[in-house]
Amino acid sequence: MGGTPRVAIIGAGIVGCSLADELVLRGWRDVTVIEQGGLFKTGGSTSHAPGIIFQTNASKTMQGFATYTIQKAASLELDGRWCLNPVGSLELALTPERLAEIHRRHDFAESWGLAGRVIDPDETAQLWPYVDRTRIVGAYHVPSDGLTDAMRVSEAQARRATEGGARFLGEHTVTGIRTDDGQVRAVITDHGEIPADIIVAAAGIWGPRIGAMVGMTTALQPLAHQLTWTTPLPEVQAFAIPPEREAIHPNIRVQDRDMYLREYPDRLAVGGYGHVPLPVDANDLLHPSVAPVMPSVLEFTPDTFAETWSWAEELVPALRAPGARIERGINGIFSFTPDGFPLMGESRDVGGFWLAEAVWVTHALGVGRAMAEWLVDGGSTSDLHECDLNRFEAHQLSPSFIHDRGIQNYVEVYDIVHPLQPMEEPRPLRTSPFYEREGELGAYFLEGSGWERPHWYGVNESLLGRYDIPSRNAWAARYWHPIVGAEALATRDGVAMYDVTPLKRIAVEGDGAAAFLDALTTNRVDRPVGTVVYSLLLDERGGVRSDLTIARLGQDRFQVGANGPLDLDLLERQAPHDGSVSVRDITSATCCIGLWGPRARDVLSTVTDADLSNEAFRYFQARDIWVGSMPVTALRLSYVGELGWELYTSAEMGLRLWDTLWIAGREHGLIAAGRGAFGSLRLEKGYRFSGVDMTTEHDPYEAGLGFAVRMDKGDFVGRDALVGKSAETVERRLVPLLIADPQAVVMGKEPVRIEGRPAGYVTSAGFGYSIGSAIAYAWLPVAAARPGRPVTIRYFGEDIPASVAAEPLFDPEMRRLRS
Ligand SMILES: Cc1cc2nc3c(=O)[nH]c(=O)nc-3n(C[C@H](O)[C@H](O)[C@H](O)COP(=O)(O)OP(=O)(O)OC[C@H]3O[C@@H](n4cnc5c(N)ncnc54)[C@H](O)[C@@H]3O)c2cc1C
Repeated sequence: MGGTPRVAIIGAGIVGCSLADELVLRGWRDVTVIEQGGLFKTGGSTSHAPGIIFQTNASKTMQGFATYTIQKAASLELDGRWCLNPVGSLELALTPERLAEIHRRHDFAESWGLAGRVIDPDETAQLWPYVDRTRIVGAYHVPSDGLTDAMRVSEAQARRATEGGARFLGEHTVTGIRTDDGQVRAVITDHGEIPADIIVAAAGIWGPRIGAMVGMTTALQPLAHQLTWTTPLPEVQAFAIPPEREAIHPNIRVQDRDMYLREYPDRLAVGGYGHVPLPVDANDLLHPSVAPVMPSVLEFTPDTFAETWSWAEELVPALRAPGARIERGINGIFSFTPDGFPLMGESRDVGGFWLAEAVWVTHALGVGRAMAEWLVDGGSTSDLHECDLNRFEAHQLSPSFIHDRGIQNYVEVYDIVHPLQPMEEPRPLRTSPFYEREGELGAYFLEGSGWERPHWYGVNESLLGRYDIPSRNAWAARYWHPIVGAEALATRDGVAMYDVTPLKRIAVEGDGAAAFLDALTTNRVDRPVGTVVYSLLLDERGGVRSDLTIARLGQDRFQVGANGPLDLDLLERQAPHDGSVSVRDITSATCCIGLWGPRARDVLSTVTDADLSNEAFRYFQARDIWVGSMPVTALRLSYVGELGWELYTSAEMGLRLWDTLWIAGREHGLIAAGRGAFGSLRLEKGYRFSGVDMTTEHDPYEAGLGFAVRMDKGDFVGRDALVGKSAETVERRLVPLLIADPQAVVMGKEPVRIEGRPAGYVTSAGFGYSIGSAIAYAWLPVAAARPGRPVTIRYFGEDIPASVAAEPLFDPEMRRLRS
């Protein structure tokens, strides 16, 4: 293959056009965009989107995509017409709860670098004169938000791409994909084949159909969404908006009513998510040549919109005037995924087959850039772990899950969602072998990756007499109980068992296993059998993809403690395919109890003959031992910073392992403890949570993980990018903050300010019961990251005083772990 690869993009909606432009800008000129409809009113979702952009997003990555869309659209024009109209946005609060929520939204938006303000009803009415100000209690204003014209911005990018060498083929329908030896070779269309080394499906709601052409499940559910245009309104016409401007007042969101509005020169448009969900099967979508209006537009169903319209009338007096009504409406179709994030990345099974789907107009230009970076440079400057199409567990790819969760995400699109709020259905889905016992102990379960995970145990209420646990503010107190604190302290005082079964475990075996893991990760893995190593997976740019705990259980046998499906995917992709290495997900086949606390040795030694002395079984070592008749792999590690072991056995023996330890622990005061306590204890020790505390946007030295990097061991992925870097050269750092007020527990993603100016943001946070203080880990510029430095954390509109601390906050000499 000479020159740059031949890329075929399926779909000339806003995503396909953005990607083509970004690829050509990076010097990839052999780009063909294949579109079944006409160019550029293709009949896809882009053809009818009103182009409203709200950048604010709880995800840093998603907000970054939107900000890039705004910035790039502002730099484009088509035949002298704008691609961005920066009218700003307002999120209206109708209730005190929503007012609090928009403060929270303002806060995380500021964390990710977006300027906005929460304003009062009078100022809101000045900015958007159509509102009945008596109905609102405030609003969140983002001046840099705006409108784009989705088709115009698509065409503007397509023109530039064409000038740079790309081809756009309208009225070409993709009917198949030719693969050979697990690799894409060509796109098959109704006009013949187009050879390609890389195929990117940017087919929006048709995504599942294109995926099926290579036997792939696409986790995307098309849903119809209602949008209406009113009759001309004198109140709007009074502003004499020049037709070419289209709008001069901000776009509006009314999350309390699942509704949004935008202005046109003589009227308003009202869209709503409050209607009964209207899922559409991708296989039922029509071809543009036969669709009555266009394939992504179904006939408007006024009855399902009636409630939204009455809410709009309630809020906007102009809509109550005689003659004001809906003149036109559509049920337009677009895509929803099980978790609301887009689908980006390369298929696990078919080399060269990529997706860029389930993307809003808002994020499309950012997604185009990130995809182009990924394809051209091998990685993106944005952290993409939330968007990677390989992020799903097996059950999340079932048709019912994709359907039901897609609908649920549609319904919840504007809801106030607590960071710990679990999915409601299907539950229980994945249960560990200890589930029954946990239930008997009054476990309060939250769900994660489908697993039922105890957060605390009701039976431990009795511990509350022993410990004084501070109460919390209302938001932080959701999905929390003072028992959490008691379990944390009881772990430090005695011994507790934790169900850590849901943590991903991968067996990496074969005579090439050691060399493979050594070349893939940052630490020296090729060490004696029985050694455990903490090591990092980096991307080519030296950013932290994940952290792994790698136990060498035999010469050719490793057990890897990982963070999720993406780690498995990476290991599977990177492993040599010559039979020298096998990679297997053993999570479901096995289970694990973390037995931790100063009395852990006392408990374990009563049920095993293995020598558990500090000399024989040291910290960060692994042994295969017998617990009664059960073969157990014991790893002397602890994420909570106490003496103890992770004890693994096969799933069918799990219940007996639990019972055996439980009985043995009775005389030592053993308790079961949940994830709430686990989270608190790990924060006190400063153990990082990959994907939250650090991502591919951070290098190991910035994240305080330089100790896991061995630059002298030879090559590994990401090494080149780290040359010349060290803890001394970093410009930002992840540091703990201590909050003076014990009730002021924050949750993560809050902005940190220094002398009133934004300086960084919180990653994970909680309360450290042993140190008696609320803790927030935060990214700060290195000059500000000095212990003792006063800062404030913005939380629901308040500035909470805190200060930078030295880490670890608990047991810095590691006496407890090494005793
Ligand atoms: C009513 C409504 C209002 C919306 N409002 C907004 C908004 O204000 N802001 C916002 O951010 N988002 C909005 N959205 C969402 C937004 O419109 C979509 O998410 C976005 O346009 C998707 O762009 P896309 O390029 O992925 O898909 P599309 O625009 O659908 O492009 C996919 C293309 O693939 C082509 N294709 C499919 N199959 C084949 C094949 N076999 N061969 C060749 N070509 C094929 C299709 O013809 C289509 O043109 C709205 C959606 C709806 C329905």
